Amino acid sequence: MKIYDWIIVGAGITGAALSYELALKGFSVLLLEQDPRKQNATRFSYGGVSFSFWSGTTALTHQLFQEGVERHRNLSSELDTNTQFREIDLLLPIAAGDDPDRAAASCSFFGIPPTFLIKQAAKELEPLLNTEAIVGALSVRHGHVSPEATVRGYCEAFVRNGGTIEYVKVTELVRQGDRVVGVSDSTTTYPAANTIICAGGFSRGLLKSVGLSVPVYFTHAEILETPPVEVKLRTLVMSALQQRAQTETAASLGDRDRLWDEEDRVIAPPVLDAGAIQFSDKSIRLGQISRTLTNPRAEVDAKESEAAIRGAIGKILPPLANLPATWHRCLVAFSNDALPLIGAIPSLEGVQIFSGFTSALVLAPPLAKRFANYLAGEDEEMLGQFSPSRFMVR
Ligand SMILES: Cc1cc2nc3c(=O)[nH]c(=O)nc-3n(C[C@H](O)[C@H](O)[C@H](O)COP(=O)(O)OP(=O)(O)OC[C@H]3O[C@@H](n4cnc5c(N)ncnc54)[C@H](O)[C@@H]3O)c2cc1C
Repeated sequence: MKIYDWIIVGAGITGAALSYELALKGFSVLLLEQDPRKQNATRFSYGGVSFSFWSGTTALTHQLFQEGVERHRNLSSELDTNTQFREIDLLLPIAAGDDPDRAAASCSFFGIPPTFLIKQAAKELEPLLNTEAIVGALSVRHGHVSPEATVRGYCEAFVRNGGTIEYVKVTELVRQGDRVVGVSDSTTTYPAANTIICAGGFSRGLLKSVGLSVPVYFTHAEILETPPVEVKLRTLVMSALQQRAQTETAASLGDRDRLWDEEDRVIAPPVLDAGAIQFSDKSIRLGQISRTLTNPRAEVDAKESEAAIRGAIGKILPPLANLPATWHRCLVAFSNDALPLIGAIPSLEGVQIFSGFTSALVLAPPLAKRFANYLAGEDEEMLGQFSPSRFMVR
């Protein structure tokens, strides 16, 4: 059987972008994806291409966000596709009872600080907004793409550049001594010189198959998706005080890492951050509940979740609360410092990781390009800052 230069596991935005960039470099690349329908975090995301970081801006993140937005502006032409990139307004309503100064402070690190809007101005921007439920809103320009179209574009361009995609579920990494020499599903072994894990919320479990405990975690995210509807939502609406980010940090602090190796553990209580976005086909995604449960297949009560999401949306965007919609869930990877894990995994050769992104849609494209440069022997010193070894890998 052919020995590939690189096997990439997972065809969400991270695996699709990285496979494409590696194929462009002339490597032989096999992209393995378990789900032909790609019902993953990328598929159910809002598609927001943030112009600046949610978790504090440093010179590094500022540069990468700029690179990411620039990349998205040119991606349709580079991939010969239509990623549906556009600029929209991000609207962050501040709920009645919340402190506007606290909300503004929580966004003060934005490279482009959001503007505070009084209720009426917020309503002009987003006519569906319920001004009774808010004290005002923050607003900032934002990018937006179709995540599915972007991944499709990457995958098609990958194949045009000689890449191969197969739809199989990788069940384990194949280890020979201190080296991973490929992957296998239940029937076949796929040999490779190197393997890169881009499996989103499944990355931690896959690396466990070779005895590695890598500090990449996941939330169970739940959303509702409507069919195309006539109602028009103009903006990307997200909560000004995002609870998800705080939950992720708390759920992965210090000693909590070891809890993630226990089965069926609830690490932190669930949080609900109300959000909504309409896509060009007029469908709307309404979200989102985030749960930190260590079992990737943990059961959740879909009906209860749906009612909770509808209730939260009903407060800020009443016309959307009762639209017909289907409940979906997915796993979303994260790291403790909101920066991705990129690079070799200490103590084992032949396996690397490219996962744990927050703001994956904007950051995965530029970092995939830089990572492919690095793997082709070029100098990409900045990637050292994303090495998994910045955390203590056991
Ligand atoms: C409601 C919601 C809104 C969001 N909004 C935004 C946003 O606006 N902007 C933004 O940047 N991010 C957003 N995110 C986060 C973003 O969706 C994720 O960070 C990103 O999609 C992760 O991409 P990924 O490639 O790491 O994972 P995924 O998209 O989950 O892809 C991983 C892939 O690996 C495959 N896989 C896993 N295990 C195996 C295996 N054993 N064998 C083969 N294949 C396997 C899976 O099937 C999957 O297709 C949002 C998330 C949610 C849930």
